[in-house]
Amino acid sequence: MPTLQQFTGCLLGQCVGDALGYVIESKPPEECRAYVDNKIRTNQLADWSGQYSDDSQLARELMISYADCGAFNPVDYADRIRAIFSEGRIVGSGRGALEAAARLEAGVPWDQAGTPAPSAGNGTAMRVAPIGLFFAHDHTALIRAAEQQARITHLDPRCTAGAIAIAGTVTLTYEGDIVPEVVAEQVSDWCRPFDPVLADALLRLPGWLDNPLDVVLEEVKSIGDCPAEWTGWPGIPVFITPSVLWSLYAFLKSPSSYVDAITTAMAGGGDVDTTAAMTGALSGAHLSLDAVPADWTRLVNDRGTWTYDDLITLAHKCYEISYVRDKS
Ligand SMILES: [Mg+2]
Repeated sequence: MPTLQQFTGCLLGQCVGDALGYVIESKPPEECRAYVDNKIRTNQLADWSGQYSDDSQLARELMISYADCGAFNPVDYADRIRAIFSEGRIVGSGRGALEAAARLEAGVPWDQAGTPAPSAGNGTAMRVAPIGLFFAHDHTALIRAAEQQARITHLDPRCTAGAIAIAGTVTLTYEGDIVPEVVAEQVSDWCRPFDPVLADALLRLPGWLDNPLDVVLEEVKSIGDCPAEWTGWPGIPVFITPSVLWSLYAFLKSPSSYVDAITTAMAGGGDVDTTAAMTGALSGAHLSLDAVPADWTRLVNDRGTWTYDDLITLAHKCYEISYVRDKS
């Protein structure tokens, strides 16, 4: 089992990465690196709102659903996704999820509402990290839950594979040192039935860790068949395959430093709220809450609500449910 501090670290690590990255979302790598150097590294964040976006809102809703139902329940989670869109509470959403939410609102069942291929945004992976907390010792259940929560908004199997990669890596962060080759091989096996392109790239990932950052960035951007709507993006696009690979790379490059990991994610530019959210969740789960700077965790919020204390309480509830279930 993960510890309570790993539960809280995963959620707060995600929210901080998201909220820091949200400020520079869709900017080119050079602009994101300047922000890292001039603002984040020097903690010059007096003008930072701490607002996190859809990535962490939907990860939070997944945890609220789990806490309320006492289990992962895709029907309930889909209704929460429908509600946050229809009530206008979503912050910075993707097109695939927006269209799926409209179908849910129209009464389409949760497992048919997802936007079909070739819509392959990263919405399924950006919110999935809590699944890796809930199903630490049941990998079959983990893959099923990651797949089910993906279906709610995206039917493209590449989106399922990306969600499995993030949730699966979360479960591999709990014990001891991270061995990139071991993580990459296991996660590749889990993803392969859904997306062999991602599975093959994961096997190459450990070999990238000693390469110059920009060499890795160009390689990652070239992987998979990027939908036309994102080919012009500066840096890492919204496309699921490169955004998941870049987030895993950033975590595996600096497994012992939360700040190094999320700033590497941001150095890729592009969809940085999402890449930093996913990397932040992985790093926070591995290193626990204490590794996420308290100056930042105390400031994250969603329009002034769902701040530090609420998020910690939510993570505690989910931890209790998982712990009791695993004991029985
Ligand atoms: Mg976002």
